Amino acid sequence: MSDPLTIVQANITVCWVAASGWAVAGMVLKMAPVVARRFFLCDFLMGLSLLLTLQRGGALPVWLAYPFADVLGLLAFCSLRLGIRFFVRRDGSGVAESLGVVLLGGALLLGQPYGQPAGFHAVVYSLTAAWLLLRATQDALLHEQQYFTRGARALVASPLAAVGGLFLLRALMVLGGNVATASVASNEPFNVVFLLVGLVLNLAVNIAMAGVVTMRLVGKLEHLSMTDPMTGALNRRAFSASLKQQHSMAQRGMPYALCVLDVDHFKQINDQLGHAAGDAAIVHLVTVLRRELREQDLLCRAGGEEFCILLPDTTEHGASVVANRLRLALEQTPFAWENTRWPLTASFGVAVLSSANDEPETLLQRADRAVYHAKARGRNQVVLL
Ligand code: GH3
Ligand code: MG
Ligand code: MG
Repeated sequence: MSDPLTIVQANITVCWVAASGWAVAGMVLKMAPVVARRFFLCDFLMGLSLLLTLQRGGALPVWLAYPFADVLGLLAFCSLRLGIRFFVRRDGSGVAESLGVVLLGGALLLGQPYGQPAGFHAVVYSLTAAWLLLRATQDALLHEQQYFTRGARALVASPLAAVGGLFLLRALMVLGGNVATASVASNEPFNVVFLLVGLVLNLAVNIAMAGVVTMRLVGKLEHLSMTDPMTGALNRRAFSASLKQQHSMAQRGMPYALCVLDVDHFKQINDQLGHAAGDAAIVHLVTVLRRELREQDLLCRAGGEEFCILLPDTTEHGASVVANRLRLALEQTPFAWENTRWPLTASFGVAVLSSANDEPETLLQRADRAVYHAKARGRNQVVLL
């Protein structure tokens, strides 16, 4: 495949297949719609730009085959950068900067008749493309850590850096007089290699982005399937799985404790302040509990206003200290609703492994029973069973 025409045609096909993929992902499947829209635009415009470029020297009017095709290409790189930027949550100022660079590059391209001076347009186009691609690489590398793993970052940044570098090299080659013509149909070895590498990298950028968008969606779904939407606390299913895992570690000597709590007289909040206040009180409770817990403690909404907490590496004494701290923190942080400050308390039950034969479910039942005792003894207290 050393015929430039075939390589460019293959690249157009890649662009349009990828554009269709992004259109389906964004518009039909509603997957990362903003990112998908920007990548769709990138691939669609790039395909169109290459198609027009192929007509150079043919029947098409010069303005369509040259300046128009080039501006479309620059807009495609601009969409690519803005897609990456949105993906890594660095939108905002990037839009103005990228469009400004395209505007400047476009003005320079249109300001001179094509071919005069020789290589001018190839240099302007290549430098503008390189700027956008290298800035996109920087965006991918300097993202906020929690949104993008190191592997995903490398996956996206490397083909972007490679295309950016390739355009920079092309600008330097044209400037140095090593590439006589900037035409895509030229048979010069550098041109053929440039087109081939461009084709491979175009594929790589699209595959990498499709990969990371999918990875993020899978992560989001996983998170949704594990948490309670109102409070962000773990749901019962996720909690049971973690409990089983913790329990198997306990067989190897790592102690753990369970704490169950139920809000006292919660029905009164619903009755007197309304259901919305009840919901807000539950969110308030979670905020207060989270402040007191360690990173490794797992908070689960077991249902309604009842919560379970898994305390890894915690002894009986440690668990009652934690439960009392939580109880006190709740008592001292009344729930504020409109002009009312509602004192919120809860009854706590704590259970720790008493024998190697204890099952996690038995432990949970014991903690539940302890809550029942705490209620019977007057509420707002901790009972250990
Ligand atoms: P006790 O001290 O005995 O625990 O009294 P209580 O009023 O808290 O009684 P109980 O725990 O049996 O009932 C809790 C009530 O919480 C029952 C239900 O109406 C209400 N509730 C459960 N889930 C939600 C929720 O998500 N939002 C709101 N607003 N209310 C809820
Ligand atoms: Mg309850
Ligand atoms: Mg209750």
